[in-house]
Amino acid sequence: MSEKSEASDNLEITTPQGIEEEGKPKGMRMSKKSACDSCGKCCGMGGPVLQKEDMKLLMSGVLSQDSLYTLREGELVFIPGEQEPKEFFIEVIKVKEKNDTGECYFYDGSGVCRIYENRPVQCRDYQCWAPSECLTGIDSTRILRKDIFGGVPFLMDAIARHNEKCSYEKLGVSLARAAGGDEEGMEDVIDMLQYDSSLRELLKEKLGITAAADLVLGRPLIKTINIFGFHVVQEGEIYTIMPIETEQKETP
Ligand code: SF4
Ligand code: SF4
Repeated sequence: MSEKSEASDNLEITTPQGIEEEGKPKGMRMSKKSACDSCGKCCGMGGPVLQKEDMKLLMSGVLSQDSLYTLREGELVFIPGEQEPKEFFIEVIKVKEKNDTGECYFYDGSGVCRIYENRPVQCRDYQCWAPSECLTGIDSTRILRKDIFGGVPFLMDAIARHNEKCSYEKLGVSLARAAGGDEEGMEDVIDMLQYDSSLRELLKEKLGITAAADLVLGRPLIKTINIFGFHVVQEGEIYTIMPIETEQKETP
């Protein structure tokens, strides 16, 4: 990052400061942060990536499995402030975001973290004035699903089979083929959607796993496929896949 853009990332607009007597807004004032003032903005942009040191929070129950999800290798993700989705090249486990606001699951929306005393390492270390330093080394310090489920062979087997059958690399290739009119590409996509969905049903029936399925298997393909530019409607065993742009154009 250039010196100029780095500096602009560090600036926060802290005005308008109110209205002057004659009714005009007061002048803009810019401030540069160099320490956390607990403003909560970072909590409003999503949940933290968990690191090995956070395992104790899982063991103690501060972080329930229901509050977490896995970003799988190759998954596309929108990063706050970026126009285009980014590919995650490594598996990470994160605290969930609220569907409606994108805020961290533990953020109360008014500046308060509900687990502040026991917040994950990334939250304690995060410095919004130097964001690039906060991801350094995460490749070696992150928690993986095998750290959590390594002692449950049934789940590790389900994760391995799911990764093999429903990898994001395979999904991207099959969607590109389907978009080009290749029927086999479309069938492969539907196979993946069915497999993903039926495995979630199996986890629910056999182990009572529902919300934590997003941790075991990552988020449902029927949702994450949207970021690839496709929308899926499921009616029983029937899946209808539509390019999102086409669908929007057809919508009055
Ligand atoms: S680290 Fe987060 S809470 Fe602290 S000042 Fe920056 S945005 Fe606000
Ligand atoms: S766990 Fe707490 S400190 Fe961390 S992002 Fe969520 S609300 Fe913010």
